[in-house]
Amino acid sequence: MNIGLFGGTFDPIHNGHVALAHAALGRYGLGQILFVPANIPSHKQKHPLTPFLHRYAMVALATQDDKKFVPSLLEGPEFVVQDAAKVNGPSAERKPAINYSIDTVRRLKQSLKKSDRLFFLIGIDAFLDIAKWREAVALLRECEFVIASRPGFSLRDVAESLPEGLRPSAAVSRPFDKHPAQGDLVLPGLKLHLLEGVNQSVSATTIRAAAAQSRPLKRWVDSRVADYIRKERLYQNK
Ligand code: ATP
Repeated sequence: MNIGLFGGTFDPIHNGHVALAHAALGRYGLGQILFVPANIPSHKQKHPLTPFLHRYAMVALATQDDKKFVPSLLEGPEFVVQDAAKVNGPSAERKPAINYSIDTVRRLKQSLKKSDRLFFLIGIDAFLDIAKWREAVALLRECEFVIASRPGFSLRDVAESLPEGLRPSAAVSRPFDKHPAQGDLVLPGLKLHLLEGVNQSVSATTIRAAAAQSRPLKRWVDSRVADYIRKERLYQNK
């Protein structure tokens, strides 16, 4: 089976995320997409994150109607002992583990069949930082990437975002400048699929700002998510 893994902060999950997932489902014949909210994302956030349970609950609500959409606890809260020497001691200090995609992918792959194909779904904005991710080269080799493209981005932007070592030389990528970011980019040991046509200009940042002003949210999020935000008084900047 072809399986999609879609990670994010989902604070909150919105129509842009769902549109990306729907487009990937059809295009790559995915049998299942796991929506994986990160408890503690490795990338620094500009805002304090809403507790994991609320973000997970919203993902579960927004994915309810599609049998192939699965809310996942793969990056749910986990605690690690800070100092290995104190594992069993009374002073063992535990702190929440940071979620790294490479660990999640490796853990997930242990439960997959050899014949399964794993597709890592990501928006192009997030992909532009991929070289800074932990074990980026290994991650790019572990699964196929589906990058939701946007008008204005070229194939060269994608190629030049790759970590050194995987990045084609400037001479090779320069002509990509004129090519919109679409189609497949196949380089030794990695496969990137560029998914165009997902153009929902919505972000979680906009939704949090609208919620803070008690403005209606239903044009950006599933109505159950909008109701949940209202009932739980999320994003009120108390
Ligand atoms: P924020 O506004 O808080 O930064 P966000 O809307 O970008 O949040 P995330 O949970 O950070 O949402 O994003 C998860 C993934 O979804 C990322 O790969 C991101 O690029 C992608 N994504 C976010 N918004 C859209 C959108 N409107 N269309 C397509 N992909 C998107």
